[in-house]
Amino acid sequence: MGRVTLPDQVGTPTTASTAAAESGAAQEVLRRVFGYDRFRGDQAEIVAHVIDGGDALVLMPTGGGKSLCYQVPALVRPGVGVVVSPLIALMQDQVDALSALGVRAGFLNSTQYPDERRTVEAQFVAGELDLLYLAPERLRLESTTQLLARGEIALFAIDEAHCVSQWGHDFRPDYLELSVLHQRWPKVPRVALTATATERTRDEIVHRLDLGSSRQFVASFDRPNIQYRIEPKNRPERQLLDFIRTEHAGDAGIVYCLSRNSVEKTAAFLNENGISAVPYHAGLDNRVRAANQSRFLREEGLVVVATIAFGMGIDKPDVRFVAHLDLPKSVEGYYQETGRAGRDGQPSTAWMVYGLADVVQQRKLIDNSEGDAAHRRQLQLHLDAMLALCETVGCRRTRLLAYFGQPDQTPCGNCDTCLTPPESWDGTVAAQKLLSTVLRLKRERGQSFGAGHIIEILLGKQNPKVLQYDHHELKVFGIGTDLRDTEWRGVVRQLLAAGLLAVHGDYGVLTLTEASNEVLFDGRKVPLRREPERAAKPARAAKSPKVAVELAPADASLFDRLRKWRAATAKEQGVPAYVVFHDATLREIAARKPASLAELGAISGIGENKLAKYGAGVLEVLAEE
Ligand code: ADP
Ligand code: ZN
Repeated sequence: MGRVTLPDQVGTPTTASTAAAESGAAQEVLRRVFGYDRFRGDQAEIVAHVIDGGDALVLMPTGGGKSLCYQVPALVRPGVGVVVSPLIALMQDQVDALSALGVRAGFLNSTQYPDERRTVEAQFVAGELDLLYLAPERLRLESTTQLLARGEIALFAIDEAHCVSQWGHDFRPDYLELSVLHQRWPKVPRVALTATATERTRDEIVHRLDLGSSRQFVASFDRPNIQYRIEPKNRPERQLLDFIRTEHAGDAGIVYCLSRNSVEKTAAFLNENGISAVPYHAGLDNRVRAANQSRFLREEGLVVVATIAFGMGIDKPDVRFVAHLDLPKSVEGYYQETGRAGRDGQPSTAWMVYGLADVVQQRKLIDNSEGDAAHRRQLQLHLDAMLALCETVGCRRTRLLAYFGQPDQTPCGNCDTCLTPPESWDGTVAAQKLLSTVLRLKRERGQSFGAGHIIEILLGKQNPKVLQYDHHELKVFGIGTDLRDTEWRGVVRQLLAAGLLAVHGDYGVLTLTEASNEVLFDGRKVPLRREPERAAKPARAAKSPKVAVELAPADASLFDRLRKWRAATAKEQGVPAYVVFHDATLREIAARKPASLAELGAISGIGENKLAKYGAGVLEVLAEE
């Protein structure tokens, strides 16, 4: 039986239940506990399958609604739903959010005091929990398996299941232990969930978690409310400031940088320019880091500047933009990070600046990385795919979706290349000039140099380094004055992305590839994307987001009052504002102005528990003039 503390319980589906009864029970839980009218996409089918005892692999993009896929079955099936999650820092918030719904949840991880842990363990054994969140490393402890054996388990949910993939971008060795679950509890259904799913990762999850006979549910990976944009990098901090000021003033957002140093600098720069921002990276004191994360979750309109260490599993629904000031290492990483924008389905922006230095830097990281040649090759493949996305002249979204196994989509109309299609030009001669400079230096002098120096030679600059090496005597000296420095950098970048040139080592020296010869000697054409002087601003349409419910001015002021009430309530209870209600719910309240508890309860996102807890408060705000 579901263990939600509801006035009258739903019928028990455990004995000889029919699919219809199960789906009735699931529907009931969805409505009463979560306050939602209907399941989205595959949710209904997944939930029914798991309630029925089946294993499932669920692939859904961030914000797709994965949580309900195990939370609802955990409430309907007898026993406790055990959720394995690597997101230790977020377990408290997850448990708080569930408690606000009247769901009995607890967690076990290394951050707890032993007596806290003992309390949760006792609750588990006594069957007083609906959901138990567990850090994967706990499964290595014999005491954990002994504990689990003492309670009744409704299901195992394996969140962020791609962490089991050794060649993926997020490998966690403890995840390999998860195959024990199946051996030990063969009858308990398992749901593995991830938002990262190339076919290779998917196969690896199935293989390592022994999910061969599970049903796979693959949702569309599209996030239509996110606008994708990638611009040439020139003055990244200025570009970021412009972007935030013109499109996202007052919005919550995440800015990703590669290094701790640039995180600190960027956060300081934003603050100096009137945009509240906090840094987040592994070098910060634990307490400072936790405090900054907590501020981001709780305050409205705060920007967090972070290394990739930030944000996994962040369930803040109203992040309006994700900005990258450095190139992510893989398309998987990029998609996961950008996916943290707009979980609430409202219009959001994924914005990135990228330049030649990024390619050189990433290549250097690969050359210096630990691991064998195969591992480095893998990293290079990840980088190549990311570069191809950056340099595409086609729709970014169709490219992303093709990467995640959904080819043949039509152009989206909501990415930069769709909104302002880039011009292309015949870069064959430019490419030949550049490649032959690299070739001559190697052949005639046995030398290799980085892009900067090669470009100086092409531009005919008689600088000290050129003179020192007598490079002004080369035949190619000054043959490239028809392009500007930035244009040449664009040429190098695009040749690198296309594999027509390679870059290596600490100094980022350029070398030729097999394919370079096709350009130099076999007449291979090189179409290039024109470097805009300045990135074109997106079409206006994209700037005035279409919200789920449009508010009239009077309703907007009511919405503001509701937000103030929510902020006060959340503060009093020590939870993030969205744990009380989402923006979308408040907006709907402001537009519909329910006059009674019954009317209020009909609004999406208000289940029985929240109605009981907050209903009177909301009606009071509505009654105020
Ligand atoms: P994921 O874990 O896949 O990133 P979540 O489970 O956090 O996504 O869900 C994303 C958002 O969508 C949450 O705010 C959640 O409350 C909402 N949501 C999920 N399913 C439904 C549904 N059936 N109806 C309405 N809202 C939903
Ligand atoms: Zn597009």
